[in-house]
Amino acid sequence: MPNSTDLSLAIYRIRVAIPVHLYDCFDYKLSAEQYAQAEVGARVAVSFGRQHVTGIIVEKLALGEPIDPRFQLKFITELLDDEAIINPQVLALLKWSAQYYQFPIGEVMQAALPTLLRQGKPYNLLARMWKVLDLHAEEKVKRSVKQQDAYKILKLHPQGTLENILNLSGIETATLKALEKKEIIRRDLEEQNFKAEPVQLAQMPLTPNEDQKKAIQTILKAQKKYQAFLLDGLTGSGKTEVYLQVMHEVLKQGKQVLVLVPEIGLTPQTISRFQSRFHCHIALLHSGLNDTKRFQAWQHAQTGKASIILGTRSAIYTPLPNLGLIVLDEEHDLSFKQQEGFRYHARDVALYRAHLESCPIILGSATPSIESYHLVQQNKMTKLELNQRAGIALMPKMHVIDLKIAKKKHGLSEQLIDEIAKRLEKKEQVLIFLNRRGYAPVLICESCAWQANCPHCDAHFTLHMKPYSHLHCHHCGTINRLPDACPQCNQQTLKPIGMGTAKVEESLNELFPNFPILRVDRDSTSRVGSWQRIYDQIQKSEPTILLGTQMLAKGHHFPYVTLVAILDVDAGLLSVDFRAAERTAQLIVQVSGRSGRGEKKGDVYLQTLRPDHPLLSILLDNDYRAFAKQTLSDRKLALLPPCRYAILIRCESKSQEENQKFLNEMSQLLRQQSEENLIDIWGPIPAPMERKAGRYQAHVVLLSLDRAKMHFYIRQWWLQLLHAKPSQMKVTIDVDPQELN
Ligand code: ADP
Ligand code: ZN
Ligand code: ZN
Repeated sequence: MPNSTDLSLAIYRIRVAIPVHLYDCFDYKLSAEQYAQAEVGARVAVSFGRQHVTGIIVEKLALGEPIDPRFQLKFITELLDDEAIINPQVLALLKWSAQYYQFPIGEVMQAALPTLLRQGKPYNLLARMWKVLDLHAEEKVKRSVKQQDAYKILKLHPQGTLENILNLSGIETATLKALEKKEIIRRDLEEQNFKAEPVQLAQMPLTPNEDQKKAIQTILKAQKKYQAFLLDGLTGSGKTEVYLQVMHEVLKQGKQVLVLVPEIGLTPQTISRFQSRFHCHIALLHSGLNDTKRFQAWQHAQTGKASIILGTRSAIYTPLPNLGLIVLDEEHDLSFKQQEGFRYHARDVALYRAHLESCPIILGSATPSIESYHLVQQNKMTKLELNQRAGIALMPKMHVIDLKIAKKKHGLSEQLIDEIAKRLEKKEQVLIFLNRRGYAPVLICESCAWQANCPHCDAHFTLHMKPYSHLHCHHCGTINRLPDACPQCNQQTLKPIGMGTAKVEESLNELFPNFPILRVDRDSTSRVGSWQRIYDQIQKSEPTILLGTQMLAKGHHFPYVTLVAILDVDAGLLSVDFRAAERTAQLIVQVSGRSGRGEKKGDVYLQTLRPDHPLLSILLDNDYRAFAKQTLSDRKLALLPPCRYAILIRCESKSQEENQKFLNEMSQLLRQQSEENLIDIWGPIPAPMERKAGRYQAHVVLLSLDRAKMHFYIRQWWLQLLHAKPSQMKVTIDVDPQELN
């Protein structure tokens, strides 16, 4: 009998990354012809168990390489692409990501592909797009029901519709061809012309101020090689202008620019700032697009037709033939970190990508992350500061209101109410920030102290009054009816405690009945287009009160807002997470930055029960940098991230004892396997919210000064852990975790 090496001489094989939750790639057989055609980075259809899946070729095995005896070799079903659709740089980036974040390679690869390609749809789908030519052809189609149907649908989509989408809705290709013959519709061939147009300026750049000029010149010196820049510029200091002027130089050389913004930042306003500066093709990549649009944008990026690729987190994995610059705006924003499944941080992936592609990268923020300041300190990143507000706007003045002594009406201090009234009379706008949606965060009984708590979580129910009154758990989604009387003592003494945005809205309506109040939170903006309507209203110079959560804190430009109030800073000051202070500081500075961006100077009011908190005194001087410097040296002393590297293991099951026991055993194993003193193991401890949706959560934090070594030991250990865990237990790994819950 021949041994396996002899056998392998005659067998052509490829190694495929398959979208299953397994840490290996798998080998498949194919014919000599297919082998000759197969390209690394192209898709292939294979069967896996009983599933039919779309994989990506990661390697062509040389003849004679040993065959893995554990698996039975199967033939591929079909090669799906005749050339690579993921270029070598992105393939390397994906492999690195899988390794670094300890996530199955096949699932990581999926992050690089739009849904239609993941489903195995043909790459040249777009070549078959149909558009209406004749808008008055009703007469010509009236004798065929099929043609009538097709015509009706196509008329609804003047930009054109993909043939396969039409096929799915029951319209046959033959019908389309018949309509084409009658010259009623045509195939759109535009999409086949994949060539970038040379960039043209649509608008003159602004004259940069000294800081901007210095930043632009420094970045431009780094073209065609890797260098990371931290653009540390106050809110409204003209960071975007710096991006635009650097981008122009890169685009002029025919290169592509990848711009990443936080999830919520991708508003029509951001897009229009790029569009009004450059005449060039911009591809937009974000989760709000339908599959066809996303595929189209991805393809424009991947072929090089698009010069600017503007997207959210996952756009970092878009293959780009010509990448010349990466810009990541609001780099401190938490939405760059994926918090479930494949938990990657787009900022760190972007840094690695720039390095792989030998191009500069700019991280910009008014409140940079402590991680980035740490990289600056280690000389891994160059800091560029913008120290004045661009144009004539000045930094706002900060005021603290001590809630312990302030006179209050409707939960708002009278001082604040007065100030709001003054602004509105002067026809200015006011922004009120409260990071808590709903009516009230707690409902209690005043007679017996009963509290409305979620039966499945260690959490209070939030009281909502609209569209009907109910109790809602924001952690597991449970909705309960609002009881008429206390379920414990039967008295009618239930009382909401604290306030959410809906409650504040009610109060403001009573206090300021003659002014529009716009509420911006997840409850009020869930309808499509509602955010846009609110935004349009804000851009008019009319007295208005804007009230909202997080959504208002992000880089928006509200030129008529002159007063910002933060109703409850204390929530952030008292959290157990060591990053809470950083997040709170960023939030305060970012929200404050919405004030006084126009010609009038702005004011910021903070309501707190802790006016003496050290964090507040630093921020009162508008000095985020001093705060960050202090925080970084505190973290150094405490050996906390980013001064040590962290990995968080989360464990979830029906029993907390079982979690603790399992994590204890696993920690013990890690201690035995790794070098002494290399990895510090904290825990196991119950998660801050111990019970969530009826399941118990615990975790272990691993910390080390030596990232490479820690990762080396964790890799083996993590696979052992997955193997050893009881089947009903869910365990996840979070490398460089951003939140400890
Ligand atoms: P940031 O991104 O730092 O918050 P923006 O880029 O949005 O700041 O700039 C704030 C405002 O200042 C914008 O209206 C912008 O057009 C304007 N601006 C930026 N740079 C200049 C400049 N050099 N001269 C005049 N106005 C500028
Ligand atoms: Zn009661
Ligand atoms: Zn719950």
